[in-house]
Amino acid sequence: MMLTMYCVGPYEIQSVVTGMIRLDGGAMFGVVPKVLWKNVVDVDDANRIRLATRTLLAVDRSNNRVVLVDTGCGSKWLAEEAERYAIDTNPSALSDALAEHSLTPDDVTDVVITHLHFDHNGGLTHWFDEPGGRTCLAFPQATHWIHRSHWDHARNPHTKDKPSFLDRDISGLIDADRLQFVEGDKPAPPFEGLHWWVSHGHTPFQLHPEFHGPSESLLFVGDIAPTVAHLRAGWVMAYDVQPMTTIEEKQHVFRRCFEEGMGLAFPHDPSIGGVMIDGTERRPIVSRTLPL
Ligand SMILES: [Zn+2]
Repeated sequence: MMLTMYCVGPYEIQSVVTGMIRLDGGAMFGVVPKVLWKNVVDVDDANRIRLATRTLLAVDRSNNRVVLVDTGCGSKWLAEEAERYAIDTNPSALSDALAEHSLTPDDVTDVVITHLHFDHNGGLTHWFDEPGGRTCLAFPQATHWIHRSHWDHARNPHTKDKPSFLDRDISGLIDADRLQFVEGDKPAPPFEGLHWWVSHGHTPFQLHPEFHGPSESLLFVGDIAPTVAHLRAGWVMAYDVQPMTTIEEKQHVFRRCFEEGMGLAFPHDPSIGGVMIDGTERRPIVSRTLPL
């Protein structure tokens, strides 16, 4: 199957659905009443809403760069855990998408770890031989970019967000020793055509990649706006450690979209990889769906 693709500067970018997951609708929309959010999402009998786990794959052929942004839930799940979140991982999604470019997981040069919540980066490692044993990297040649302050938080989380970080994901990264730390609030660009933006409302020091071309740009908006439904400034998640900061960060991002013509790529929308937006910073509207 030929996947759709969106070009930003030298990058061919696509949003790859690595699996589906269901999370509590109340947790996904915070103080927003269900009578409002139930009209815009698919909700099941257990009050869970259907979400995708999305990876951005960006290929720059001129510089031999193959970038992944987040890697989904991965496969290191016990049956009862997978059932709780209705985790349905497609284990070949990323290798299939890479194969469309005649690439393999060993060709991935860079992995961006936006944050270490299990639904974003459980896919960084596999069990080496048996479940519960050692793990190995899924993309062993890649430099793994993460903000140092997020890494420090993930290794010592608050009681509120501790369930989102799994020791088995983090210990495998320590053992593999392939982390490249990003520092500060305005980190230097890692290479041509890629900038960093850092947010704090959802989780401390979430690292957002921005792809830039001569006249176009695309921000992986991450978990400050996980789906199209979260394009309302006030619709923020109960998971967020600083929800009022998330609102300010979303409005900052929306203003940049209006002023710079920047597009947004989502991590969790069940059907849409990315959009251009119009309207107001309180309630943007989708002006165009991107072919991601
Ligand atoms: Zn998250």
